[in-house]
Amino acid sequence: MEKFVEGKRLEIKSLTDRDSFRRDFLGNLAHELKTPLFTVQGYILTLMEGAVNDKQIRMKYLDRANKGVERLVAVIKDLDMISKLENDGMKINFEVFNILELIQNVFDLFEMKAKKRNITLQFDKVYEFPVFVKADVEKIEQVLINLIVNSIKYGKPNGTTIVGAESYTNQKFIVKVIDNGEGIKKIHLPRLFERFYRVDQSRSREQGGSGLGLSIVKHIIEAHDQNILLKSTYNKGSEFSFTVEKAR
Ligand code: ADP
Repeated sequence: MEKFVEGKRLEIKSLTDRDSFRRDFLGNLAHELKTPLFTVQGYILTLMEGAVNDKQIRMKYLDRANKGVERLVAVIKDLDMISKLENDGMKINFEVFNILELIQNVFDLFEMKAKKRNITLQFDKVYEFPVFVKADVEKIEQVLINLIVNSIKYGKPNGTTIVGAESYTNQKFIVKVIDNGEGIKKIHLPRLFERFYRVDQSRSREQGGSGLGLSIVKHIIEAHDQNILLKSTYNKGSEFSFTVEKAR
């Protein structure tokens, strides 16, 4: 009887937890959508009320409205990804691939974005051999994209992002993404991987973030039964790393 009661208690607790999680999520989501939407609406109304006649103001307001739309698009894209990840029960399609090649692809994809802030993307050393891992190549690419894009967004201009892969245990490699950017204060570290959590709302907004990137990373790495690690020193830089299974 006692066991039954304890079982029910746990069940109810997990349902309540899930329910409050869902409520928090919906609340955050509404806020995330509302803020840029009202910004866009504000600029459009001001333009309609006459600002449209002034050429300089017109361009400025259209540019700001466009930034709001870009933010909405970023949030929707990431939400779409989270919902896809959750709907396929995060099915992991394991295959063997060379992770150095994947890192190089992501470097190539974001070369322009990095150049705009004069940030260099590079490997930690010259690799003589491929590093073969066993994982879901598309999902690990998403992880690398989110971490490397963050290193550019929160990196210092003229800085460097260094990526490397090394042996961690007999079964695992560790992939590290290191930047010498703004770093993160200790108090934020425990909550950083939560959905919509941001250190600096305005900074993230200015960088066009949805606040979902790191929660997507955590989701993917945990579905692989691997770990994500983070070291960061405020004003010095951050090191995000994750483990991945060695191919044998
Ligand atoms: P966002 O869309 O805001 O970038 P993320 O989930 O990717 O959302 O990141 C959450 C927060 O973590 C960011 O808003 C930023 O404050 C912080 N952050 C992430 N990566 C870095 C980094 N490389 N350096 C400093 N801060 C970072």
